[in-house]
Amino acid sequence: MNSLLRKSALFKNVLVVDENTSMAGAVSVENGLIAGIIPQGARLPKGAAVVIDGSAFGGTPVLMPAFVDLHAHFRDPGFPEKETLESACLAAANGGYGTVVCMANTRPVIDTFEAAARLKKRADDLGLIDLYPALSLTRGMEGASLSGITAAPRGHAARLLSEDGKDVADDALLLAAFNEASRLGVPVSCHCEALGAEGARSAENRGTRRVIDLARRVKGLRCHIAHVSTREALSMIRKAKAEGVSLTCEAAPHHLALTGEDADHLGRGTWGQVNPPLRREDDRRALIRAVLDGTIDAIATDHAPHAGADKEAGAPGFIGLETSFSVCFTELVIKARLPLSRLSGLMSAAPARILGMDDRGIIAPGLRADLIMVDIQAPSTSGPFKSRGRNSPFQGRALTGKVLF
Ligand SMILES: [Zn+2]
Repeated sequence: MNSLLRKSALFKNVLVVDENTSMAGAVSVENGLIAGIIPQGARLPKGAAVVIDGSAFGGTPVLMPAFVDLHAHFRDPGFPEKETLESACLAAANGGYGTVVCMANTRPVIDTFEAAARLKKRADDLGLIDLYPALSLTRGMEGASLSGITAAPRGHAARLLSEDGKDVADDALLLAAFNEASRLGVPVSCHCEALGAEGARSAENRGTRRVIDLARRVKGLRCHIAHVSTREALSMIRKAKAEGVSLTCEAAPHHLALTGEDADHLGRGTWGQVNPPLRREDDRRALIRAVLDGTIDAIATDHAPHAGADKEAGAPGFIGLETSFSVCFTELVIKARLPLSRLSGLMSAAPARILGMDDRGIIAPGLRADLIMVDIQAPSTSGPFKSRGRNSPFQGRALTGKVLF
């Protein structure tokens, strides 16, 4: 949370936008919580320690709930040449994220509640964002036996489980993990592209079918599908949801904005390399349609920083925390005419709901004053980045919409 919001504050002359609201007015904050939402022209509360006047910013300042990311790689512990906890938290805050789930594929792997709690404590001490490390499903992400998810201490902070880019090949073991997750009441994020030939659309489609079929068999499971990228996988998810399977899914900004042609320009197998890969234009259009019709629940960055040498050697992934809003605003709100309030839902309210957090994601009295200001008219330049990674596919692209703080 922005530290100035820990005391009393007043944001005035702003457009207040969340999943349910889009109105001109003001928002007051007391003790880190949202106190009131005041329509433009109504009497404002007096005595706030900090007053932020939107009219001083020029442009169109919009106050929104901070974003919630279901999927980022912080590379800590183990890979300081790619990212550190501090650089990742700074990147998240710079991109407007207040809450982030980081994946478990670090060294060592985050495969126990104790390891997750240690990492969370380190992030809490930095005080930049609210971090929730995901636990892996299997020990050491080796796919052989269940991780520490079988030994949950009381009051644990886990909000998501995921084997990340490996998924679990053995059906019986994945079912056992799903059953543990259901018992814990924690959702599982599945990377359906992970098994089979790397980057093959058939692998993602088969994997999506398999995960849906297994998820159907586990009562109470909240199954989440990470970074969907093919139109066939989207059709399966749409159908399963209509049949009542408890399923949510996310799309990554780079899949909404880019195609294989961009991968060619960036360098196939190097700087354009990502899993799942940048697909065809008809896949990209299918993703946009699935955002508009609600099949896609949330935007998640899959922020994956790498050192330059790793990218040259083919390491998959892009950084994304600091460009996510501009890319989504440009592609979804400007080009696809998605209302900004729906983008707020995709980036804040829905991911908070998926994580079972009812204290954030919208602007309402009593919720965390985890607020950001964006300018929706400002052109956005990619960078300079707080992330250590320089592997953004959006460098040099003209985008609109900028996170001010
Ligand atoms: Zn990932």
